[in-house]
Amino acid sequence: MALRFFNTFSREIEEFEPGDISGRPIRMYTCGPTVYSRAHIGNFRAYIFEDLLQRHLELRGYKVYRVMNITDVEDKTIRGAREAGVPLQKFTEQFKGAFFEDADTLRIKRADEYPAATDQRYIDRMIEMISALVSKGLAYQADDKSVYFRINKFPDYGKLAHFDLTQLQSTGRVKHDEYDKEHIGDFALWKAWDEADGDVKWHSPWGPGRPGWHIECSAMSTALLGDQIDIHCGGVDNIFPHHEAEIAQSEGVTGKKFVRYWLHCAHLLVDGQKMAKSLGNFYTVPDVLAKDYTGRELRYALVRVHYRVPLNFTWEGMNEARESLGRIDEWLARLRQIGKSGNAERPTPNPQCPTTAFEEALDDDLNISAALGFLFESIRQTNRAMDQKEMDAASASAWLDWWNRINAVLDLEAAVDAAIPEEVEQFAQQRENARREKNWKRSDELRERISALGWQVRDTKDGPKLTRGAGST
Ligand code: AMP
Ligand code: ZN
Repeated sequence: MALRFFNTFSREIEEFEPGDISGRPIRMYTCGPTVYSRAHIGNFRAYIFEDLLQRHLELRGYKVYRVMNITDVEDKTIRGAREAGVPLQKFTEQFKGAFFEDADTLRIKRADEYPAATDQRYIDRMIEMISALVSKGLAYQADDKSVYFRINKFPDYGKLAHFDLTQLQSTGRVKHDEYDKEHIGDFALWKAWDEADGDVKWHSPWGPGRPGWHIECSAMSTALLGDQIDIHCGGVDNIFPHHEAEIAQSEGVTGKKFVRYWLHCAHLLVDGQKMAKSLGNFYTVPDVLAKDYTGRELRYALVRVHYRVPLNFTWEGMNEARESLGRIDEWLARLRQIGKSGNAERPTPNPQCPTTAFEEALDDDLNISAALGFLFESIRQTNRAMDQKEMDAASASAWLDWWNRINAVLDLEAAVDAAIPEEVEQFAQQRENARREKNWKRSDELRERISALGWQVRDTKDGPKLTRGAGST
């Protein structure tokens, strides 16, 4: 069955028909972080949803070319740099670095490009687009010297958000000098320099200033992906005004339909409220790691609920994630054991290794809950088969192959420990012998030798287990 996605533009589930894409990848644009502080895990819910989408498209054989912008100039970054008393670039750099670090911790696949708004070539593109809008009568310079988009001249304005123009309110992302504008909903394309901006300014036909947030994305997306984009994503709070404005600007300039599929994820909540910097109810990735959870556990906790369903973040949810991953780890260890030992237990076709149910669930507007439900049902059934010695090596390998296939989308497998050096293995074996002989002194000596080599030995009911220092996955 074909892939289907809920398109915010039509408010309907639509078949994914990217048109003639022979010889070219799917063009995907995802709004990235505003680097004025460390991103919170609500932001990462959006990025994980986009990661799932890209990986599933790839599993289905599409090539994807993804661009994620970095918003490194807008009101909050300028204010932050001013307050910290450092140049804008220096201020935003630390948060860019933190963003990539956290994205790696959460195993988010890197986009193909991360354009930054302050890159001169995109600033030039923004100025070029604004000039085109002005010459078409779609934008005007107001008395305050800023340039605004004239929404009354763009009849489709409001279509993405399904808004009535008469209900438009000011949005906080534009300066509050509304009196200069023709319409309260007109948004800034170019903001004239003022003292509070310090040395953050670029030259333009309208005088010194800086771009508005919305034009940044129109310029970077069309510069790197062309006039028409297949899929554009973000969180639901991006729908209006940001994405609505992106459509008006891009289509205003090119005259072509900007985006075919608009996909938006619901928010991560805390106690029923959106997790947001402004509300102070947020956690960062390091906050979660500091509570001894792993990036893998957080990835699971954020990915496991359908992207259009609001997700309440709780520590209980993190514990559930840990438990679910533990079940997967154990299941894989059992399958590997059987696969390796060539254990010719009763060959059984039951349960048969499934081939497509997991990905078919994801075809249906990324129905991850159904896909994971299917995974855990498969785990339950195969565990029962293994309990009853009804799993032969070939079936176990087939299940492992299946896991490898779906794990290309999930990326939830525990990191493999570095190979245990032979010397450490030998000491562990000698220690085990000493323990059997109740030679505790020798056993302790060997533990110390193992420890000196950077390994730890733990005695479990299944025998001694070796782990590397304080390594976690
Ligand atoms: P920002 O850095 O504010 O531009 O946001 C970056 C991305 O995170 C955007 O796609 C937002 O829609 C998304 N986002 C912000 N807060 C949340 C949240 N609580 N849950 C899910 N996504 C969010
Ligand atoms: Zn954007």
